[in-house]
Amino acid sequence: MPDVGLHLAITLFIIASCMSEAELKPAVGLIPFGLLCDLDSVVGVHRATLHNLFVVLIPVVIMAIRRERSKFLSLATLLLAAHVFMDAFYNGVFLLYPFSQESYSLKFWLGLTDNGFGLLFYTLIPGKVGEVEYVVKPSPSIPEIGIIGDGTELVILIFAVLSFMCRFGILYKHGIRIKNKGKR
Ligand SMILES: [Zn+2]
Repeated sequence: MPDVGLHLAITLFIIASCMSEAELKPAVGLIPFGLLCDLDSVVGVHRATLHNLFVVLIPVVIMAIRRERSKFLSLATLLLAAHVFMDAFYNGVFLLYPFSQESYSLKFWLGLTDNGFGLLFYTLIPGKVGEVEYVVKPSPSIPEIGIIGDGTELVILIFAVLSFMCRFGILYKHGIRIKNKGKR
């Protein structure tokens, strides 16, 4: 899976781009939706129990039952989908679990080759539930779960946190207050 830090960074970018400055409380409340799928590495089957399309659709079903649109629940759906599809492009997830035992691993590449532009998109179906490989080193009991995988992820996460803080005025509010004091 992409590391927790990368999931957190994408989560913060999505929330910062969709919420207004006055919505800090719901914005903070949305952060877990970008990360909670990985709880199935502790409870249930990893990359299956909480990494499937049915989990992504739970907030939509709640909206349908209530017969009302909710910005919070719409964003929760978006964050769950972002997590599941990022993982689907990295070693695969069981997109249709519990109705299918197949892990869908999506592959995409776009770039320049000797023949000009190259575009690659395909799907691998590598294994059954419980067989998908997501750890780099074999471990007897506790799987290896990366938090920040490398320097690139660290830089992305730092800028995501800064973007989130800028959006909700956490960074500059204090500075403005000092400036106003000076004018008096
Ligand atoms: Zn995950």
